[in-house]
Amino acid sequence: MILQEKNSGNESSFWLEMCPATNFPILKTGLKVDVVILGGGIAGITTATLLKQAGYTVAVIEANRIIKDVTVGTTAKISVSPNKIYNNLISHLGISKAKEYANTNSRALQKISEIVEEYDIDCDFHRLPLYMFNESLEKVNELKQEFEAAKKLGLPVSWVEDVPLPFATGPAIKYDNQAQFHPRKYLLALSNELNGEGSYVFEKTRAITVKEGDVKKVITDKGSIMADNVVIATHSPIYDPDGLHEYLHSERSYVIGLYARGKFPDGMFIDSFPVHTYRATPTDNEKLIIVAGEHSPVDVEDRNVYYHRLEKYANQHLNVESFEYRWSSKDSVTDDGLPLIGMTSQEGIYVAAGFGFWGMTNGTTAAMVLTDLITGKKTSSIDLFNPLRFK
Ligand SMILES: Cc1cc2nc3c(=O)[nH]c(=O)nc-3n(C[C@H](O)[C@H](O)[C@H](O)COP(=O)(O)OP(=O)(O)OC[C@H]3O[C@@H](n4cnc5c(N)ncnc54)[C@H](O)[C@@H]3O)c2cc1C
Repeated sequence: MILQEKNSGNESSFWLEMCPATNFPILKTGLKVDVVILGGGIAGITTATLLKQAGYTVAVIEANRIIKDVTVGTTAKISVSPNKIYNNLISHLGISKAKEYANTNSRALQKISEIVEEYDIDCDFHRLPLYMFNESLEKVNELKQEFEAAKKLGLPVSWVEDVPLPFATGPAIKYDNQAQFHPRKYLLALSNELNGEGSYVFEKTRAITVKEGDVKKVITDKGSIMADNVVIATHSPIYDPDGLHEYLHSERSYVIGLYARGKFPDGMFIDSFPVHTYRATPTDNEKLIIVAGEHSPVDVEDRNVYYHRLEKYANQHLNVESFEYRWSSKDSVTDDGLPLIGMTSQEGIYVAAGFGFWGMTNGTTAAMVLTDLITGKKTSSIDLFNPLRFK
C-alpha cells in the first residue's frame, strides 16, 4: 500500500494530488459478467480495457478507490528495461526466452502508446531516450555486457560516452524511443470508458474469495458477482490456490519530487547500482524532477531514514531548490525476475503479479497475455510467464 499520511513527513504521491478523486459505486450484488477483474491498478484496469475492446463484459472490483495503491507509488517510466536484466536472463534462461521477454516489453510500450492515441488521452505521454549508467566505473564492464546482450536481442540500444545529466556519470547504454507518462491520468481515462454496455467499475468492495466452477462466484464484503472468468490483479494475489506467495517477495522503495536550478535534460536516467532513477514531469510551475532509490523491508518502522538518504543523494547530484514530494510503495519480485501471468491451477481463474518494480510494461503485458488467453487467441508468452513454472 502507498504510504502518504500528510502528518508523517508530508508523504504524498504527486500523481494522486494532480488528479480528481473517483466515486464509482459499491458492488451491485447478483450480477453476472464474462470476466470479473479484482484490483484497480494498472494491471486490472488495462486488462478490463482490452477485454471490453474484445467484446467481453467486465467488472472491476476494487477494495478501496481505483489507482490509489502501488500504481501511484511508481515513477512511471515506460521502458523495455528496468535495469541490467538481459545479460542475466540470457545466461539463466537462454537467448530465445530472453528475446521473448524483450519483445513482450517492446510490445507493451507500443500498446500504451497506441492506447494513448486511440483514446486521445492527455497524460503527458512523451517518447524519450532512457540512459542506463553506473557512477562506479568498476561496474562499466557489467554495463558493457548488458549493452551487448540488449543489442543481441534486437533492442534499440547504443553505447554513448556522455549522458546529458549535470554531473559526471561515465558511459551509458542509451535506449531510444522509450516513454514516460502520468499513470493516474492515463488510467482514469481508461476507467471512465469501462462503465456501460454491461460492464462496470465497483469501488469500496473488497473481494474475499473466489468459488471455482463452470461459472465462478466472487464473494465480496458487499455481496457476490458471477463470471465465466476471474482475473486476480490485486498486486498480492488474494486468492492463491497454488501457493504463489511462496515465490513472491516484496520490498519498499522511495521517491522524492523536487525542483532544481538549471535545465533538466530530456530523458529518463537509471544509475544501475545502487539503483537510483531520474525523470522529470511537467507541472503548472516548472518541471518537477522525480528521483527514486533506496530499498527497505515493506513494514520498516522509520521511513525517514530512507527519505533522508535519498534527499542527501539528490543534493549531491542536483542543484536542489526545494523538496516538494516524498512517497514510498512496495512492489513484489520473483526469483527469476519475470512476472507471474497466466492461469492458476483452477480453470478460468487467472493471476497477474510479481512485476518487479517494472509494472508499467509488465502490467500492460499481463493485460495483453490474459486477454489473449481468455479470448482463446494464441499467445507465445504462456510458458514464459506461467505462474506455475516454479512448481
Ligand atoms: C518506487 C517505485 C517506483 C516504480 N517505478 C516504476 C517505473 O518507473 N516503471 C515501471 O514500469 N514500474 C515502476 N514501478 C512498479 C509499478 O508501479 C508496479 O509494478 C505496478 O504499479 C503494480 O500495479 P498493480 O496493478 O499490480 O498494483 P496496484 O496498483 O497496487 O493495484 C492493485 C489493486 O488491488 C486492490 N486490491 C487489493 N486487495 C483487494 C481485494 N481483496 N479486493 C479488491 N481489490 C483489492 C488494491 O487496492 C489496488 O488498488 C515502481 C514501483 C515503485 C514502488
